[in-house]
Amino acid sequence: MGQTTPSPPTDFIRDMIEEHLQTNKHQGRVATRFPPEPNGYPHIGHAKSVCLNFGIAAQYGGTCNLRMDDTDPSGESIEYVESIINDVRWLGFDWQDRLYYASDYFEQLYQFAVQLIKAGKAYVCDLSADEIRDYRGTLTEPGKESPYRNRSVEENFDLFARMRAGEFEDGSRVVRAKIDMASPNITLRDPIIYRIKRAPHYRTGNQWVIYPMYDFAHCLSDSIEKITHSICTLEFENNRPLYDWFVEQVIEKDRPQQIEFARLNLSYTVLSKRRLIELVSRGDVSGWDDPRMPTIAGMRRRGYTPEAIRTFCERIGVAKNDSIVDIALLEHCVREDLNERAPRAMAVLNPLRVVIDNYPEGQVEELECPNHPQNPAMGSRRVPFARVLFIEREDFLENPPKKYLRLAPGREVRLRYAYVVKCVNAIKDEKTGEVIEIHCTYDPATQKGPPLDGRKVEGIVHWVSALHSVPAEVRLYDRLFEVANPMGGEEDFTNYLNPKSLEVLTSSRVEPALAKASPGSRYQFERLGYFCVDSAAKGLVFNRTATLRDSWAKIAGKGKK
Ligand code: ATP
Ligand code: MG
Repeated sequence: MGQTTPSPPTDFIRDMIEEHLQTNKHQGRVATRFPPEPNGYPHIGHAKSVCLNFGIAAQYGGTCNLRMDDTDPSGESIEYVESIINDVRWLGFDWQDRLYYASDYFEQLYQFAVQLIKAGKAYVCDLSADEIRDYRGTLTEPGKESPYRNRSVEENFDLFARMRAGEFEDGSRVVRAKIDMASPNITLRDPIIYRIKRAPHYRTGNQWVIYPMYDFAHCLSDSIEKITHSICTLEFENNRPLYDWFVEQVIEKDRPQQIEFARLNLSYTVLSKRRLIELVSRGDVSGWDDPRMPTIAGMRRRGYTPEAIRTFCERIGVAKNDSIVDIALLEHCVREDLNERAPRAMAVLNPLRVVIDNYPEGQVEELECPNHPQNPAMGSRRVPFARVLFIEREDFLENPPKKYLRLAPGREVRLRYAYVVKCVNAIKDEKTGEVIEIHCTYDPATQKGPPLDGRKVEGIVHWVSALHSVPAEVRLYDRLFEVANPMGGEEDFTNYLNPKSLEVLTSSRVEPALAKASPGSRYQFERLGYFCVDSAAKGLVFNRTATLRDSWAKIAGKGKK
């Protein structure tokens, strides 16, 4: 990434790489890869891996490949490939011409398996899946050798060729590595390396009826690409000896090395494609890019910036033990970024009509409003002010408490970047008793400064002109789950979905300049939060990215920071 950071991140992986560079372990090369399986849209956990792999390559003058790890045809699709390509690029990373597909290596992987068979290090096994499991043993008991373990090289070679040719039924035979059924590491107890599966592959179609298993395909794909550091998540730690075993059998030089780090877990969120698919297919969300989803597509539509996501990934760091990151930190990162870059605008989510009795009928003033109060370089815009306005319903109370700094009968507030107004009357719906309109007077001397008589007006309220503002739909999002750890409860995680995670407001009004706001553009609505123009909806729809309330700042303030 071209972004400059004050000091490059350090962690145990970078320490290791620096040591390798010093000892010339991989001839000074650093080659990483990001290897998603195209069976779902990338999520914020993947972003952590993307930032790590591409970040390391950039930092050490190396390369990072994008590799579709597409060796299991079920659930993989071109739609997912496209989402991955799009999202990694959007995050700000570039693999140049190094987009690879593990499925392009099918022939080569087949030949590696043949090589193992010829070396007497793999065999065709006819045990059923259940039998293989029974024979595998347990953590405390060694496994039992398969009766097919000592087939001759010729027979194995012949059977494997016939497996490939489609002579046998799905599940009737597998190829297994011949390692050690008594190994204390169960992954080394003759793991399966090939299985028969008649499923069309989204790229190779019906060309193959046998597919390599992950443990076999991944390390050898790394080898084919001459990866030096194969960074993966912690659950593969036990598989590292197996990774090394395969590589040692068939690769002579430039052997890659697997390094494990802790995956990202985020509170109030699930980060597993299988679970996210469930949410999509059950209709709990509108799709992979629902702005409540922790997918990159959802976060983009919600208004997250690539910068905010990259900063988040950098702040959480890389560790060797699992933990759950507070989602407040992610929200903090997007607020921090948008606070700097999002132009300000005025919008009224739940409008209440305000008539300024002493303002001339038909008069319109174009008031100059800065686009960013702390950054004059962002310029200003003119917002029309007129006799009839809208303010936020919750900015008026008929019987307010003492310290209420908004409007109430007899009280004064400043309208943001406009005049001080005083509420003189509230009109109610005869039937419901609901306040439907309030009347105010304005102090014409207060547009550029405080009241001349020195009286204090503390409250500031945002507004739009009734006549000039444009209608918009606003979607307010809350956390998708009600509990911090939806996977940790007794019930199915879907039982912890937050029923109030989406609130749709259909009668909001925004200042006229926003009528032309382009999809994806982001604003801070004064006093309300950060909002982004929805990129999928037809009319003018704003998604709330985040409120202005920063719970992380509070947490961090109380703690060490
Ligand atoms: P999921 O559990 O969401 O299905 P996965 O590991 O099966 O994830 P892959 O497509 O295989 O998904 O992941 C691609 C890369 O992203 C892998 O290197 C994986 O280790 C990494 N990755 C996946 N989830 C996370 C996470 N939560 N935190 C960090 N890295 C992750
Ligand atoms: Mg995986």
